[in-house]
Amino acid sequence: MNDIRIARYVLALIIATISVFPAITRAQSDTPRNDEGTAGEPYPNMPSIPPIGVRTGKYFDIPASAQVPAVAPAKGYRLQDFGGGLYMITDNQIQSMFLVYDRGVVVMDAPQSYAAHIRQAIAEVSDKPITHLIYSHSHADHIGGAKTLGDIPTIIAHEETLRLLKRDADPNRPLPTVTFKDEYTLHVGDQVLELSYHGPGHAPGNIFIYAPKQRVLMVIDTVFPGWMPWRRFAVSQDVFDEFARVEDVRKMDWDTVVGGHVTRVGTHADVEMQAEFYRDIKQAAATALATTKIGETLNPLDKGNPWAVFDNYIDRVAAQCVSTLTPKWSTKLAGYDVFIWDQCYSMEQTLRID
Ligand SMILES: [Zn+2]
Ligand SMILES: [Zn+2]
Repeated sequence: MNDIRIARYVLALIIATISVFPAITRAQSDTPRNDEGTAGEPYPNMPSIPPIGVRTGKYFDIPASAQVPAVAPAKGYRLQDFGGGLYMITDNQIQSMFLVYDRGVVVMDAPQSYAAHIRQAIAEVSDKPITHLIYSHSHADHIGGAKTLGDIPTIIAHEETLRLLKRDADPNRPLPTVTFKDEYTLHVGDQVLELSYHGPGHAPGNIFIYAPKQRVLMVIDTVFPGWMPWRRFAVSQDVFDEFARVEDVRKMDWDTVVGGHVTRVGTHADVEMQAEFYRDIKQAAATALATTKIGETLNPLDKGNPWAVFDNYIDRVAAQCVSTLTPKWSTKLAGYDVFIWDQCYSMEQTLRID
């Protein structure tokens, strides 16, 4: 072996040692101590619906009661005619409306996902210009496509919506030009829209829009006809106020309700069912909170960790809540399995803290 070959051999040996050494030290440090941080035994009486973060093989089938005409993919939306010049536009996931009057069109919300089709949808039934845009509330999923409509002379919203939109400073959501506090009635030609504010519920500034001639009520992110509500009661900032808004909708006089999400519009029977579900989940979570013992099933080594004590307790409360509701509700509400854990966690939090 000449000097150069010896040098290469030594170098190769050093490289091989360096590359193997970390693997040896990794293997040693991977050995768990006291099973720290590894999955434990399942909770007692664990529901079969996988909890948040656990993958579901196949979600429950959608019941026929929640199914609607398909949206042609090339078109991107479908129109539903309520009569009297009032229409819903939807992509079967989000819903908005427009109202035709003698000299123009009033658009209610401009969802991000299909706002580019709104002018085309209007053109199917009218050649009048858009004169007014009404924002149900400030959230981008419902009005984030407003800019694509071009400059609209009048944009109407609740004063809280103006405040939030100023804060957000989003060029896709132009600021309202007209705001109100409690009630605002829009008269255009022989058409009428009654706007009213009942409280923060889902989000500050979220209004009711009622078309009295057509007997259609639009209340966004509050009623979910035939469906489990979106997670954590539509991510409401005030869950009990959101429940109160559902009661408001239930007591009002109308024929059709537009909720802003899911597949179809709703009837009074849908709202009755949602109110009943809310009563049941409140009761189920209250009972679970009252009957679940803090600290039971906890690893004794975690007793000094208050976050862990409550995480374990809350998990067991939520599991009992899910188990209580599943027999009655799993086949009544489309998407029950998707968000029932979220709703039980939210109800637990709301009852214990609010
Ligand atoms: Zn919203
Ligand atoms: Zn929404």
